[in-house]
Amino acid sequence: MIYFDNAATTTVDKEVINSYKKALEDNFGNASSKHRFGQDSERLYIKAKKQIAKYLAPTEVSPEEIIITSGATESNNLSILGITNRYYKRGKHIITTEVEHPSVLEVFKHLEKNGFEITYLSVNKDGIDIEELRKKLRHDTILVSIMGVNNEVGSIFDIENLSKTVKENSNAFFHCDATQALSKVKQNYKYCDLISFSAHKLHGIKGSGLLVKRKNVDLVPVFFGGGQEDGYRSGTKNLPAAIALATTLRVAEETYDTRRKKAESLKTYLISELNKIDSVEIVDIKNSSPFILSFITKKHKASVIAEALSEKDIMVSTKSACSSKNLGGSYVLNAYGYSEKDTTNGIRLSFCGNEDIIQGKIFIDELKAILDRTKKNE
Ligand code: PMP
Repeated sequence: MIYFDNAATTTVDKEVINSYKKALEDNFGNASSKHRFGQDSERLYIKAKKQIAKYLAPTEVSPEEIIITSGATESNNLSILGITNRYYKRGKHIITTEVEHPSVLEVFKHLEKNGFEITYLSVNKDGIDIEELRKKLRHDTILVSIMGVNNEVGSIFDIENLSKTVKENSNAFFHCDATQALSKVKQNYKYCDLISFSAHKLHGIKGSGLLVKRKNVDLVPVFFGGGQEDGYRSGTKNLPAAIALATTLRVAEETYDTRRKKAESLKTYLISELNKIDSVEIVDIKNSSPFILSFITKKHKASVIAEALSEKDIMVSTKSACSSKNLGGSYVLNAYGYSEKDTTNGIRLSFCGNEDIIQGKIFIDELKAILDRTKKNE
């Protein structure tokens, strides 16, 4: 199989599986239990958080600022609902972009129905206009949420300058959904108050992730219960997930350079080959992740092409896995100014950095053959 859908999810690393399995079998004690076996789990939990904090470098994070969650969907919900429930008396204006993941956008839409005023920042192929952001900040803005890397087209946003602008010009908190960014592109999160991440995008365990919550930030929790994670996320502490997350981030750090180099050369190769195909248009983003490459099939239905590739054992994505059940085109491509027809014909290739050029070559050959024999959609 050729698997070019790593932005949806990745294989699980062997070391991660081993650390997870060991913790499941050997350390099943509840970290909240006061007996020795429970307290052994608690110690390992604290140790795992210390390691996670270390592997988040160069972003300086203390172990106490880490909340283990079920993944980025939860971390995003907790950040946005948590801030707005806690600080709404200061103001009810919140800002995000048009191209966030649904786990951010849908929360904003929910809040809009409940009396919040939303500003959606536009995007273009150069990124997000910092001046536009500065102008949109108001005395009653309490939150700005901007992703690190877009999951559909791979655009890298300048989180350092965007978050710095927010801090210098307002009292708003800054949240970054770093799910497609962490350990894939270098970004500076030092001005971010909240950072979300999901382990399975980086060879970790599904249903696990984290939220970095800075000490200056308070949140109203989404889950109430036993008061774990300083009351911010009740529920029995998931020790195996925390240990596996530490392993995930360690392995990601050790493999960063090789993963990036391989992804960069595969992406460069694919861009040059796709550019030779008349009926294909690459979604050309100025600053984009080496792990994501999107293109539009100008004369064919992308879903038909993706299905034909799948029959050839090549896995790619149309729109994003989370939103591909929604009818209509990609709101992300729409935000980048593509026509209605183009927005329904986007194909995303996403890599993990273990692939080689031979796989790229097979993909191009199969794609060309499929485009040649498939009925045109004109
Ligand atoms: N944010 C982004 C940018 C994503 O790509 C995803 C996963 N597609 C998520 C959030 C949600 O992650 P999860 O499904 O693991 O909660």
